Amino acid sequence: AVAGVLASAAGGERAERRIDLIGPPPRTIVVRGAPVADGATVAIVEDHTERVRLDAVRTDFVANISHELKTPVGALAVLAEALADETEPEVIRRLSLKMVEESIRAGRTIDDLLELSRIELGGEAIKEAVAVGLVIAEAVDRVRTLADRRGVVLRVVEPGDRMKVLGDRRQIVSALGNLVENAIKYSESGKLVEVSASTDGLNVDMRVRDEGMGIPTRDLDRIFERFYRVDRARSRETGGTGLGLAIVRHVATNHGGDVLVSSVEGEGSTFTLRIPAAPGLAVAS
Ligand code: ADP
Repeated sequence: AVAGVLASAAGGERAERRIDLIGPPPRTIVVRGAPVADGATVAIVEDHTERVRLDAVRTDFVANISHELKTPVGALAVLAEALADETEPEVIRRLSLKMVEESIRAGRTIDDLLELSRIELGGEAIKEAVAVGLVIAEAVDRVRTLADRRGVVLRVVEPGDRMKVLGDRRQIVSALGNLVENAIKYSESGKLVEVSASTDGLNVDMRVRDEGMGIPTRDLDRIFERFYRVDRARSRETGGTGLGLAIVRHVATNHGGDVLVSSVEGEGSTFTLRIPAAPGLAVAS
């Protein structure tokens, strides 16, 4: 291909050829040839693999968003149509409630998408010392009503006020909040969700343990992808957008941290959000 491009270029024309190598791993190479001074020609060989991959990711993402929003909006149209023809008060009431539910679902997906893009586009996270106790308190406060409604017992192990992380408080609260919310959503009534933290002086591990349904091993690698759900029906029933864990992973990466999961189906899951500790931190557990 390089020879072909060079031959065309020697004929005085610019030439370009894309070569898709099947692999594995698959690669995309672009060869460009151009005549330069004195009758010489140059060929430029570029590896476009990463660009092609990112294009595919972007296209996929847009297709996913469209699908995720089309579902509730489509449902709204059908419900509204039914409502227009209805005279029975009880049916009208039921249809309206269903419409509220679908609107909330679409709104939630949009909120999560905005949060995700804020975190993605926001560049580097703010780096300030944030007390872990406050992060946990704030994250847990947001989901207390949900826990009460679902009859899940929320327990917080206070980390002590000297434990601090280095980062953006809003982002970390959002990430931890998502983990606690999931723990509650995927647990049955009467089960325990425990939030705790420990540090080795370098990092702080914020841990959310539940006794819920657990996650099959084969899905563990994929749950952090946008819109990936283990059980669509279950996620839909609990009002999930499929974006929560993508947000958590982004926050972790933004901070030079990590998110880890261990889970046993039918027994429960533990998610660990690891964020660098603020310097000068006393080691404590
Ligand atoms: P969702 O909005 O569906 O909860 P997430 O991105 O937060 O989306 O989570 C992705 C999937 O991972 C969920 O659909 C669920 O199947 C699974 N999952 C997340 N957290 C838990 C948990 N604590 N226990 C069991 N399954 C979980």
